[in-house]
Amino acid sequence: MMSEKINCLIIGSGPAGYTAAIYAARANMKPVLYQGIQPGGQLTTTTDVENFPGYPEGVSGPEMMIQLQKQAERFGTDIRNGWITKVDFSDDLKLWVNDEKILVCDTIIISTGASAKYLGLESEKKYLETGGGVSACAVCDGFFYKNQEVVIVGGGDSACEEAHYLSKLCSKVTMLVRKDNFRASKIMQERVMKTKNIQILFNTSTVEVKGDGQLVSSILIKNNISGKLEEIPATGFFVAIGHKPNTDIFSPFIEMDETGYIINKPGSTKTNIEGVFVSGDAADHTYRQAITAAGTGCMAALDAERYLASK
Ligand code: NDP
Repeated sequence: MMSEKINCLIIGSGPAGYTAAIYAARANMKPVLYQGIQPGGQLTTTTDVENFPGYPEGVSGPEMMIQLQKQAERFGTDIRNGWITKVDFSDDLKLWVNDEKILVCDTIIISTGASAKYLGLESEKKYLETGGGVSACAVCDGFFYKNQEVVIVGGGDSACEEAHYLSKLCSKVTMLVRKDNFRASKIMQERVMKTKNIQILFNTSTVEVKGDGQLVSSILIKNNISGKLEEIPATGFFVAIGHKPNTDIFSPFIEMDETGYIINKPGSTKTNIEGVFVSGDAADHTYRQAITAAGTGCMAALDAERYLASK
């Protein structure tokens, strides 16, 4: 089988991966970046990004990712299509691309990100694609629903935190929790229960996201005990039922927590394997912002450069 030697391999093409590439390329590390199946990552599914410093007018998510790619290319990053299907770090740092080609690397920067989970409803998908009211990120998109009524699904810490965030912007927030209890910590539960404009509906599931085909106008919900249907007006539908880090292929070798988030050495981007670094959402369930992912991408490239220099 064909094999290629690589000095610095970057896996993933979100803000973390491209920022790592910009730093690695400028440091003459000859980075090779594999884009994965969603080039540009999670930001390609959002509309306007208004909280990334340096864009006073805002920028669309897809546009920003094109600019990041161009910036990485300008300094000579070798950007490739392809999907890493298997790794073997037992001896050296070996990976397979599309199950055929083998890469043997001196350093690897994992920036494979995480994917927001969605309910999987047809109507949810439709309005996610039109950008007309479905979102998995309150901090990103809450602002667009100022003084409007919104619905948020989920009963974990994320849902509580995001409901509370939305309550400061929106006139009313309805939380849909599928069981009769929260999964969130006590303190987070109390925070939402004490907030006047948050209404919590337990034992409730989403049946359909409704609208005019472009914009969301209401949510059809069902009480799981009585079976009763109800339609509640809302222009925004937020999904906060968890994220899944895209780290499965690394699992036998790289240390992770029980959800699959990679564990980095505190204050650095080092993993338990020498020469393998992690940046972005693959190791972060707390902040999950483009700017924090970019920041850790920069750190990973600097850590990788120092590691190579020390060898
Ligand atoms: P969690 O997995 O903790 O919670 C997911 C929630 O979504 C649960 O209430 C779950 O319900 C619900 N859910 C899952 N699937 C569906 C579905 N198909 N339909 C309806 N509801 C569904 O995810 P989080 O993102 O909230 O948190 C992830 C981790 O990050 C946790 O460890 C959390 O503590 C941490 N975190 C901490 C924060 C903080 O402390 N400030 C802030 C945010 C996250 P059910 O309970 O019925 O399974």
